[in-house]
Amino acid sequence: MKCRELQCGKCFITQKYKVLTHKGIDMVADINGKHATDYVVAHSDGVVVWVQKGQKNNPKASGNASYGNCVKLKHADGYYTLYAHLKNVSVKLNQKVKKGEVLGYMGNTGRSSGAHLHWEVRNTKDTRINPTDYINADLPSVKNEYQVYDNVKNKWLPKVKIGSKDYAGNFGHGVSGVRITNLTYRVHDKVKKRWLPWVTGASDYAGNLPNDIDGLQVKNATYRVHIKGEGWLNWVNKVDDTPEGYAGIIGKTIDAIQIS
Ligand SMILES: [Zn+2]
Repeated sequence: MKCRELQCGKCFITQKYKVLTHKGIDMVADINGKHATDYVVAHSDGVVVWVQKGQKNNPKASGNASYGNCVKLKHADGYYTLYAHLKNVSVKLNQKVKKGEVLGYMGNTGRSSGAHLHWEVRNTKDTRINPTDYINADLPSVKNEYQVYDNVKNKWLPKVKIGSKDYAGNFGHGVSGVRITNLTYRVHDKVKKRWLPWVTGASDYAGNLPNDIDGLQVKNATYRVHIKGEGWLNWVNKVDDTPEGYAGIIGKTIDAIQIS
């Protein structure tokens, strides 16, 4: 597979990503129509979080030694890229690097037969994902989004991006659940008349369907709520026990929320 779109503009993929057996892609450079080695550069801006040096070519090595000389970068939003089998490493641990900055030279160290670059992309959980789509594209970013449960339509409404001019909710329809990525939040249950447990992230939600909510607290955010039949209340940017420390009016149904 020849790929002119690779970041260096002159590489072949010699081995593709395979879910079980090869969780990266292997590349060599194409210089004047020949397989060759070349400098290895950073996919995008990041920080060096792991460096391994002084490795020899040892096909029987296991564990980290299989990577040989190696550089791992952490990028914005928590994604990682890893560059293995390098001949030499020219960056240091904790060094900030720019997109295109040289990390080392392609080599044949670790579990490798023939000089090439083994390249991996890892998600925020440090799990290897198929890197093919990201060779010449930005890494996926973690989207910061939120959504609410519409108590009349009885369903979760579409996700809204944090910071957009949009809001989550349908005026006139009570909100009974809130789900926000990457933040910690809780809601006040209008029926039970108490705050429900704190929730972090979007794998869970805050709420007690189908009870309407009448209060919202979001840590480290600026947020506001819309009261059914009335209007938007003031923006809130803190979380505490004062009347300014939450969004809502206890006893009045919230029908929309907005996070800036
Ligand atoms: Zn490989």
